[in-house]
Amino acid sequence: MTRSEIRELFAVLERPEVISLAGGNTDTSIVAHRIEECVHATLARNSAEALGYGIGEGHARLRERLVELMSLEGITAQPHQLVVTDGAQQALELLAKIFCEPGDLIITEAPTYVGALGAFDSFQADVRTVATDGEGVIPEALVERLEAIGAEGRRAKFLYLVPTFQNPSGITLAAERRGEIISICRQRNVLIVEDNPYAQVRFEGDPVAPLRSLTDDGIIYLGTLSKVFSPGMRVGWVLAPETIRERLVLAKEAADLCSSPFTQLVAAEYLGSGHVPDDLEMVRKVYKERRDAMLDALDAYFPAGTTTRPPEGGLFLWVTLPAPIDTKAMRARALEGGVAYVSGTAFHPDKRDGRRSMRLNFSYPSLADIEEGMHRLGAVAHEELDFARSLDDSINDGKA
Ligand code: PMP
Repeated sequence: MTRSEIRELFAVLERPEVISLAGGNTDTSIVAHRIEECVHATLARNSAEALGYGIGEGHARLRERLVELMSLEGITAQPHQLVVTDGAQQALELLAKIFCEPGDLIITEAPTYVGALGAFDSFQADVRTVATDGEGVIPEALVERLEAIGAEGRRAKFLYLVPTFQNPSGITLAAERRGEIISICRQRNVLIVEDNPYAQVRFEGDPVAPLRSLTDDGIIYLGTLSKVFSPGMRVGWVLAPETIRERLVLAKEAADLCSSPFTQLVAAEYLGSGHVPDDLEMVRKVYKERRDAMLDALDAYFPAGTTTRPPEGGLFLWVTLPAPIDTKAMRARALEGGVAYVSGTAFHPDKRDGRRSMRLNFSYPSLADIEEGMHRLGAVAHEELDFARSLDDSINDGKA
């Protein structure tokens, strides 16, 4: 196991003078007052139930609410098909645990969610990547990858995808490709893990149906309330075919007996409160404003040649700086300059990749912090580029 770059940053982020564009936090002030009400209501309703142990698969009342929530995205499911987890992160860990012996193959996008790589690495999975473009995974590249694995006499345990507003790239797998990806995997008996934390955080464009809404065969679907509600509640869930669900419950009970009944019931109370649609509207409005502010600041303060793809939702901007900037090397200087980000290498299974890219979070910092943080980061990028170019010139002139 290795420390992720994001965990390493946590100590630094406690310094108040550092503006963090690094984390994946949401602006919980939008729902904090609601949670306070739900805490009171939960304890008043049945404090013994909330403060005791619960069952491994999670509280039935919450699972019913989660089924309703998924139905908004066209997913049909029954409460007994769900396992509640401590965030989607625990679901990733449990899946790696039940599927992977050391060396077993998992296929991911590149870049991909750093926490998934951490979970897969901790069971010594062999992570292979599949090529993507601006529309997500390229179906032909997936066929090639699976055939190459077949030619080794092996089979991938699953394809891990974040199909909508991918973390970190912000890319959404095109609707037209989704059915094709499903049938490619089905023909070759490869499961798909669909990790879908961000779909509800869409501020532009038309919704794209989750893969799990197209079929219930061969898809393990992961949900979480972290990005629309609160990461601190640690409420996630898995919707999986029965044989996998059974194993997940056993693995879950071995890990922690059950997720906190208290936060599960607070979450159920909130989901049943009738406030979710309005709160989601607010979340979308606030994050869109912050995304726009970050895009404007990128234009204003960053060196020419900096590129990004404005995401239609989610929490992150994936920014690529002009060569020869190395975002990992630049990180320490950015921290000295009072701003934190995560360099692109953290999101690649092969840490030599992603050196020119960085992930910037716009959901947590205020508009003022986005402006100031981007100003600082742009200045550091300019200095870095000037320095790197002057070094190049000296080398070319034979001075160094
Ligand atoms: N999957 C993805 C793609 C994520 O971005 C995150 C959070 N950053 C998670 C899973 C884990 O979220 P949580 O454990 O808070 O549900």
